[in-house]
Amino acid sequence: MKDRFGRKIEYLRLSVTDRCNLRCIYCMAEDGVCKLRHGDILSIEELTEIAAASYDLGIRKIRLTGGEPLVRKGILPLCRNIKAIDPAIELDMTTNGSLLSECAQELKEAGVDRLNISLDTLDPDTYRSITRCGEIGRVLEGIKAAGSAGFAHTKINTVLIGGVNDNDIFDIMRLAKDSDVSVRFIELMPMHITACWDKSRFVTAEVVERHLRSTDLVGFDGVARLYRPQGFVGTVGIISPLSQSFCDRCNKIRVTPDGKLKPCLHSDEEIDLRGLHGEALKEAISQGIQNKPMCHHLNEATSTGTRSMNEIGG
Ligand code: SAM
Ligand code: SF4
Repeated sequence: MKDRFGRKIEYLRLSVTDRCNLRCIYCMAEDGVCKLRHGDILSIEELTEIAAASYDLGIRKIRLTGGEPLVRKGILPLCRNIKAIDPAIELDMTTNGSLLSECAQELKEAGVDRLNISLDTLDPDTYRSITRCGEIGRVLEGIKAAGSAGFAHTKINTVLIGGVNDNDIFDIMRLAKDSDVSVRFIELMPMHITACWDKSRFVTAEVVERHLRSTDLVGFDGVARLYRPQGFVGTVGIISPLSQSFCDRCNKIRVTPDGKLKPCLHSDEEIDLRGLHGEALKEAISQGIQNKPMCHHLNEATSTGTRSMNEIGG
């Protein structure tokens, strides 16, 4: 289905929980208190129904996200349900990777096609201070387990924070040197917690490009620009929502864990899908697609949304 600006909307980011086992400084408040009560969260049946209605409207790629999707009870049945709609749906997951070593094989068997793993540094102390409690060893084990379970083309997503991990760019890039992973550097976005952060914390894509020197662009993967430095098996990607906005290529809609469809990550416009079924549900999703704004205005102001990232899913 196309929106009113002619963009073909094929990608749904489905957030299955606002809860998380980590507390990243740019995503969640320190006390980690989640606003949503258990009863507010969509059930596995409701999530499946939204996925099926979206499929009927032309969605062909679904990403499960959160909070941390691997803390959500019923995540494996949900994956199986989505694949049962049509095995050709691309089913992906964004995870912090810390629980992956225990369930990579099961995720593969439940039909997950690809994984994005968030990892902002390779230094154990920096990792602990960014996540407030995480152990980097668990993520590295998770990445290994994903490979052993047969996941290919795994993406490592790194959010750069000035003065915290911007000296780690070279080391993180090297994860793509000897294996078929795509390391993608993502600009930190000013929203909710980060809305009042100092400018110096927002590292632009240009800083990563300097590390790539004269490496040629080898293509695009969704909103990421991809480079392959000489001698690298994998690629290095740059996602720059601020310095080089990609709204004209945006093909996604998002659904929050409490069932609100967000046509744009940075707008507070939401359409309540809860309690809708059949044609009424499809009509509401279709309205959300039609209502997608042309672009965000992050460069002039911070996000107008009031939710933190763990309540939306990135
Ligand atoms: N817990 C999972 C994870 O960390 O991969 C999935 C949910 S998390 C909200 C999804 C992505 O959003 C992560 O890669 C995280 O780094 C990113 N993220 C969170 N807050 C952000 C911000 N203010 N700017 C840019 N990316 C952000
Ligand atoms: Fe949790 Fe992901 Fe947010 Fe970190 S970025 S607190 S891992 S939801």
